[in-house]
Amino acid sequence: MAIGTRPQQKYLGSCHCGAVRFEIETDFPELTMCDCSICRRRNALMVKVHESRFVLLAGEDSLTEYQFHTHTARHFFCRVCGIYPFHRKRVTPDYFGINVFCLHDFDPTGIPVRQAVGAAMP
Ligand SMILES: [Zn+2]
Repeated sequence: MAIGTRPQQKYLGSCHCGAVRFEIETDFPELTMCDCSICRRRNALMVKVHESRFVLLAGEDSLTEYQFHTHTARHFFCRVCGIYPFHRKRVTPDYFGINVFCLHDFDPTGIPVRQAVGAAMP
């Protein structure tokens, strides 16, 4: 089992307007940035969590979904404020990528950041 940089704990997250609220549990083994066409534009710093460690607390009706290319990854946005809070990943669809800047009381200082090579994927 990978050892993370923080104690395993729950974090609350939300979009800007608060319509979408969720909870994750993670120990932050690493953060990722990605150079694929959508991640470059949204410029998010992300953490990967298994779907069993993710709970959508509110806002299912406020989420809108965007898909492109292979239509495997599912990118979610708040239809009210436009913020990207999380997406379902393409290579590992039982995992979510979470926008860590949507998390409450979270400081990314000291967590290693890995540059993912999304643009090179076929
Ligand atoms: Zn919102």
